[in-house]
Amino acid sequence: KDDNKLVETDKPKETFADVGGLEEVKKKIRLNFILPLQQPEVFAAYGREAGGSLLLYGPPGCGKTFLARAVAGEINANFMHIELQAILSMYVGESEHNLHDIFEKARENKPCVIFIDELDALGGNRNQMRQHHERMLVNQLLLELDGLQSFNDQVFVIAATNTPWYLDSALRRPGRFNHLIFVPPPEEAERETILGLKLAGKPMGKLELERIAKDTRMFSGADLEQIVRDSVESALERMLKSGNIEPITQDDLKKAAKNRKATTLDW
Ligand code: ATP
Repeated sequence: KDDNKLVETDKPKETFADVGGLEEVKKKIRLNFILPLQQPEVFAAYGREAGGSLLLYGPPGCGKTFLARAVAGEINANFMHIELQAILSMYVGESEHNLHDIFEKARENKPCVIFIDELDALGGNRNQMRQHHERMLVNQLLLELDGLQSFNDQVFVIAATNTPWYLDSALRRPGRFNHLIFVPPPEEAERETILGLKLAGKPMGKLELERIAKDTRMFSGADLEQIVRDSVESALERMLKSGNIEPITQDDLKKAAKNRKATTLDW
């Protein structure tokens, strides 16, 4: 059914335990999304219902997509990843129709998390035709978001952007994306946690991850993952030579960190 590439659907296995750091962000999501679903009566007493929408913003590679998948994992929900660019490449009318279908399908597959990456694709374009098209799609999205609120459907919308300032202002108005959350680059202790998570289960010597964490200021989670990948490669090369299992060493990590740079610095 998903062969048109507008949306990819799966059931994520990731949970919050796989997301290193971001404790405040997780707490906020737990309170607003996860607990209302698990304990509807309690939250109803406060006038809160399950469902709703969340906008994550921040530099690339710091875990927005990963976090959205983990939300789905936490509540055992399906995950639909919408390709906005693919939807925008259709004709006016067709785009809106397809977006509506995606939301219908999410309702059929509830609980469901709909993830809209690069939400900034809707807004800030100077070409008049394209601007009109985007505006139509924004309106459709707003309709769908309003629909979610009134039906309490156990369909959650999580959108993400690196550039919140390019968003169509209609999307930023209150009542639309009702939770706006900054996903920052990991702090030193968080970097150590992320390195540990990515190394878990791999052959390794005695490592001082705190030293690597110290030397990787402004590295994103994705950058850290890459450091681990590079280190694995060095260990594998040694293994090919020696024929034995070769552990990942402090030196591998150190070298890998030196050869990469922090991508969030350009943000
Ligand atoms: P973009 O804005 O470029 O889409 P993003 O913020 O959505 O980036 P992700 O795709 O979620 O970033 O992160 C890229 C990869 O980095 C993830 O697949 C994950 O493995 C790793 N990663 C990032 N942040 C974390 C984190 N806090 N804990 C564990 N892994 C992380």
